[in-house]
Amino acid sequence: MNIVLLGAPGAGKGTQAEKISMHLQLSHISTGEILRDAVEKKTTLGVKAKSYMDQGDLVPDDIMISLIKEVLPENKDFLLDGFPRTLDQAIALDQSLDKEGKAIHLAINLDVSRELLMVRMEKRGRSDDNRQTIERRLDNYDKQTLPLIEYYKSQGKLKSVDGNQIIGVVENSILELLEAR
Ligand code: AMP
Repeated sequence: MNIVLLGAPGAGKGTQAEKISMHLQLSHISTGEILRDAVEKKTTLGVKAKSYMDQGDLVPDDIMISLIKEVLPENKDFLLDGFPRTLDQAIALDQSLDKEGKAIHLAINLDVSRELLMVRMEKRGRSDDNRQTIERRLDNYDKQTLPLIEYYKSQGKLKSVDGNQIIGVVENSILELLEAR
């Protein structure tokens, strides 16, 4: 099963992605992690992505779409954490998978209130987690990423989970919905 994990910055995607991918033996692909690693190593990708990330903006679609095509595993099911983040990314992903006879089977949306997202991100203290960029990332999420919920809903693939609870409770809700499938 190929899964997309949706949710605002601070929703707990990374934490839950690790748990689900371990549970279902999926390749966990975090585009945020790949980009942070590229920035640290100052690769061509890292140099291009850094200024967008520092400002709390999304890295442009053309860069992200070619990146995802490179990192998708050929012979293993996967869980995407942080991709897609725009409609164009979602459409490109579907087209690329379709060419190979593959598909996304499930989109899990971690639903978390804005207040809690702010609290969580301020505690996390990553270099792009200062108040100004946090606000910007949340605004960008509302504008660019939120439409994906409708996109996957219209494909009959969306399941939402209450992400306002503690890690273990959220994990159990996800496992329950996976078992119910
Ligand atoms: P994350 O760890 O998923 O919150 O990602 C950290 C940052 O990397 C984001 O704020 C974006 O600047 C960038 N990024 C990660 N994934 C994507 C994506 N799919 N599209 C555009 N930018 C991304």
